[in-house]
Amino acid sequence: MKQVKPVHVMQTQFSTVEGELQLGGMSIRRLAQRVGSTPFFAYDRQAMTNRVAHVRSHLPREILLHYSLKANPMPAVVQHMAGLVDGLDVASGGELKIALDTPVTPAKISFTGPGKTDAELAQAIAAGIVINLESAGELRRIDRLANACGVQANVMVRVNPDFELKSSGMKMAGGAKQFGVDAEQVPALMKELAAANVELHGFQIYSGSQNLKSDAIIEAQTKTFELALALSADAPVTPRLINIGGGFGIPYFPGELPLDIAPIGQHLQYWVNQLATRLPGMRIATEMGRYLVGEAGVYITRIVDKKMSRGQVFLITDGGMNHHLAASGNLGQVIRKNYPVVIATKMYPDVKEVTSITGPLCTPLDLLADRMELAHADVDDLVAVFQSGAYGLTASPTDFLGHARPKEIVV
Ligand SMILES: *Cc1c(COP(=O)(O)O)cnc(C)c1O
Repeated sequence: MKQVKPVHVMQTQFSTVEGELQLGGMSIRRLAQRVGSTPFFAYDRQAMTNRVAHVRSHLPREILLHYSLKANPMPAVVQHMAGLVDGLDVASGGELKIALDTPVTPAKISFTGPGKTDAELAQAIAAGIVINLESAGELRRIDRLANACGVQANVMVRVNPDFELKSSGMKMAGGAKQFGVDAEQVPALMKELAAANVELHGFQIYSGSQNLKSDAIIEAQTKTFELALALSADAPVTPRLINIGGGFGIPYFPGELPLDIAPIGQHLQYWVNQLATRLPGMRIATEMGRYLVGEAGVYITRIVDKKMSRGQVFLITDGGMNHHLAASGNLGQVIRKNYPVVIATKMYPDVKEVTSITGPLCTPLDLLADRMELAHADVDDLVAVFQSGAYGLTASPTDFLGHARPKEIVV
């Protein structure tokens, strides 16, 4: 039985010339030749620049904007973002190295994440970056390592609040969590902190990711500021920074609409004014990954075979879930939905057909498009998967089945 899946709102941020998708001012076929092999990920510099400008045009001027490398740690992407944002957030020693290779000053780099090893903490202390503390145990290790290094460590306390960011793709706070210190444990931690070889810079309260509802984000931000005010009243020193997280999502699936950030900006202006009187000198930072780079990236893969099985058309490509786990539906999705996929070499098709696109792996999980109505395509046509600039390659099992790693380019 042929059942056609719902179609997407067409992606329009990349242009089409003579029926071919253009990336970086070049037709996709020519770009593939320039790269030298398929599959590959291409990240559009201008799209990243435009997105940061869009965020800044809506957020109050006083708010610091940080980029989370976790979303896309490709060094050339990070170098580009480093010139646009006010700080970088890393989540491992590997990401720390990439961040330290940029011109961003160490004081504007923060390190978040559970399970930081002693080796990573020692690196972070020596580098002089800010460590977002995840537990009392971590504080004790930082204290010991800072003494051994002969310097004071810079820390923020990552707080696990007693609320969550509603309707998020991923909830990272509220209830019992491995992230951060439970809000009710923070006062006790602060006593310990006062005696340790650390300098407290402030609080990080990160409650969720991939949210498309401005109302939900605004509600969580209000609770975040209220909590930060309460915690600051108990702090041994007046904190200088509140990192309120991000949570800004991008649309991936049919029916999803872009997040409206204008009301979020207006609401933040209210809090900027509040803090100016209630906690003078306190800065506010927001950190995000996906929203800044997700829409700037495209995954390109080549059709190597076309076959028909019991009435269903299959296009088989040279890359799939091994490079792009999220697009295959296997990175945390409960119900598999199609990412925005097109035949990039036939953008204005005369003939369409209902097609499934699979990667080359020997598993039925390796699916890029499930019964989508797409251009009638053949071997050697190129497939583009949009919304692939965040949580793409580095969130994928590249070694699974031993295919070559795809290239990544910035255009
Ligand atoms: C994952 C993560 C981010 C980035 O989330 P996005 O959805 O990509 O914006 C920011 N901060 C922390 C602490 C994270 O764990």
